[in-house]
Amino acid sequence: MQTVSCPSCGAEVRFRSHASVLAVCEYCQSTILKDADSVRDVGKMSAVLEDYSPIQIGTAGVYDGLHFTVVGRIQQRYSAGTWNEWYVLFDDTSTGWLGDSSGLYTLTAEIADPKMLANLPAFAELLPGRQYQIDGVPYTVAEVRNAECIAGQGELPFKVGAGWRIQVADLRSYSSFITLDYTDGPQPVLYLGFAVTLESLQCQLLRDDDAIAKSAGKYRGKLEALDCPSCGSGIKYVPGAAAQLVCPACHAQLDASDQEAQVLAIGKQVHDNVDITLELGASAKINNADFTVIGMMRRADDEGSQWNEYLLFSARAGFFWLVETDDGWSRSNVLPNWPTWPSLDAERCALDGAVYTKLYDYGSQVVYAAGAFNWKVAVGDNTHVYEFEQGQTKLAAEITAEEMTWSRSVPVAFDQMSAWFGAAFHGVATGRNIKLSHKQTARIFIAIVLVLNAIPMFVSFSSTLLWSVLGCLALFLPAVFLDNNAKNPHE
Ligand SMILES: [Zn+2]
Ligand SMILES: [Zn+2]
Repeated sequence: MQTVSCPSCGAEVRFRSHASVLAVCEYCQSTILKDADSVRDVGKMSAVLEDYSPIQIGTAGVYDGLHFTVVGRIQQRYSAGTWNEWYVLFDDTSTGWLGDSSGLYTLTAEIADPKMLANLPAFAELLPGRQYQIDGVPYTVAEVRNAECIAGQGELPFKVGAGWRIQVADLRSYSSFITLDYTDGPQPVLYLGFAVTLESLQCQLLRDDDAIAKSAGKYRGKLEALDCPSCGSGIKYVPGAAAQLVCPACHAQLDASDQEAQVLAIGKQVHDNVDITLELGASAKINNADFTVIGMMRRADDEGSQWNEYLLFSARAGFFWLVETDDGWSRSNVLPNWPTWPSLDAERCALDGAVYTKLYDYGSQVVYAAGAFNWKVAVGDNTHVYEFEQGQTKLAAEITAEEMTWSRSVPVAFDQMSAWFGAAFHGVATGRNIKLSHKQTARIFIAIVLVLNAIPMFVSFSSTLLWSVLGCLALFLPAVFLDNNAKNPHE
């Protein structure tokens, strides 16, 4: 560790890693560059934006048996929000990066191995879904980002400043994760690592909920309401986790990731007569966690079929989707570990020992959206979807111009949906899960009664038939009355 005096304010500034060349004075925000044995002040660094991250300078953890401390941070903004790269110093003096994007974490370290750096693709040719062999391992492009540095904090291994343009791509292979950083030129810097969680890193000295609320005015991951800056109606969202909003009333597209919600686009004309089975705000207890429907979108494929997707959030258990098609309901989760899929044309993919067969692929478009999402959603957004199946389980790869994701879905029975949501679930409108009306139930009953009564009739004719007819009318007439009442439950 090296301690210097800030040339601007005289406060102590520490360089804990020998690899660090820059530090930001925590008292006066001066950016201090370390050249040989001298330090100089190269100007003020912008303050970081409040982004609800629980990580802070000084947070400690363990990775692969090695202790680390967070010593610096670069905060970046790209089209779908902000993310942090936290600079970590391990006890053996090696360094790495803890990527932090709305609650999803990766831990990577720079690899200088010439074998891995050979034949890397040019930034311009990278597209989500494309595959590249890196040191003999097939990696798939998951995300391509053009970003801008907003601010820096603590100490860092290179010189950065607000406004710096950043070009990076993330690639995945099962649980392995690579970032290629093209910011300094055509030969990228390569960072290799894994997707991680703060629990798996046994993180300590995290900012607690109250500390975040004190600096942000809101609790991270708790449902909050704000007034739409465009029309004034209330919108629920999740600070720090799902702050990309589409106003349910005026359909303005909003970004609430900063302190003040920004209007990104005025609402397009959308037809509001969309069949919605689960309203925004509907809640359910699922596996002992309280979930709320925070976002809803309707999508259409190339052939015009439409279906609904509902985003559910729980402060304790995170996000998942409920998908409603003509075939019924399914529950879908984004996969942290990616299937092996040889190419976009391949008819099979494999995950954790199971082989999935391709069903179809199709283009899909968002035709309606409302509520809060954990990425930017707008009517007209196009996605190409590849679906695979094994038994009841489906895998889907979704590819846009910026991003690729994998998700896994399993069917959810109609009764299960009713049990979860109770009265908030008015699922009678969809497809084959039509509940039998009272009249239909009565008809089935009558058929059974007639058949049962017909059996003795073949043996000996009696007055049973008259009684059967009267019995059937007694069943059928009250059922007609009940159905007529049920059609207007709100009156
Ligand atoms: Zn200072
Ligand atoms: Zn509005």
